[in-house]
Amino acid sequence: MSDRNLRIVMMGPPGCGKGTQGDILQESLGVPHISTGEILRNAGKEGTELGLKAKALIDDGNFVPDDMIIAIIKEALAKPEMQKGFILDGFPRTVPQAEALDVMLAELNAPLDFVFQLQVPDEILAERIVGRYTCTQCGAGYHDRFKTPKFYGVCDKCGNTEFVRRADDNRRTIKARLATYRASTAPVLPYYETKGILYCVDGTGSIVKVKAKIEQIIGV
Ligand SMILES: [Zn+2]
Repeated sequence: MSDRNLRIVMMGPPGCGKGTQGDILQESLGVPHISTGEILRNAGKEGTELGLKAKALIDDGNFVPDDMIIAIIKEALAKPEMQKGFILDGFPRTVPQAEALDVMLAELNAPLDFVFQLQVPDEILAERIVGRYTCTQCGAGYHDRFKTPKFYGVCDKCGNTEFVRRADDNRRTIKARLATYRASTAPVLPYYETKGILYCVDGTGSIVKVKAKIEQIIGV
């Protein structure tokens, strides 16, 4: 485990493996991995006004606007457990979100150290997305073929036996989600490239291989 304070953003299209690698880095670096999905879920559970608003939007199938996501992330990053670093995944998703994150981190005097982009061709992304499922209790991610729990039907992390599949994890919607990624999120990459903290990693190998590449760059 590292003594360094590390602030990392994981980026890449849906299915690139950023959630899985975020979980792994959380273990090896000892800093919390926070996915936007999880933050929104927790905010809903905690029953904060913002959290409940966001939850209502998501439950109705609506898009959560930038300013609301930014406010929720700001609350999350102010928590004491985030002071030794974090691994963000699913945020920032747009250039305005990236700019807002910089402002927040400047106030905390805690700039980002690494932004990783996991590169995976579209055909492989589709294969990975179809078959994904998540623990309803702790949010751990699994896959029918690529990442099954050690004991069938039991979450490795928390022992829960209920899982959920995202309604939009199917071949029909993947094209649209990849198009959205290219239109809104891909422009964030040059933003970080000019800051000199963007690292592109081939995300097609095994989970262990990708992990090794990321850790080599961090210098774990
Ligand atoms: Zn679990």
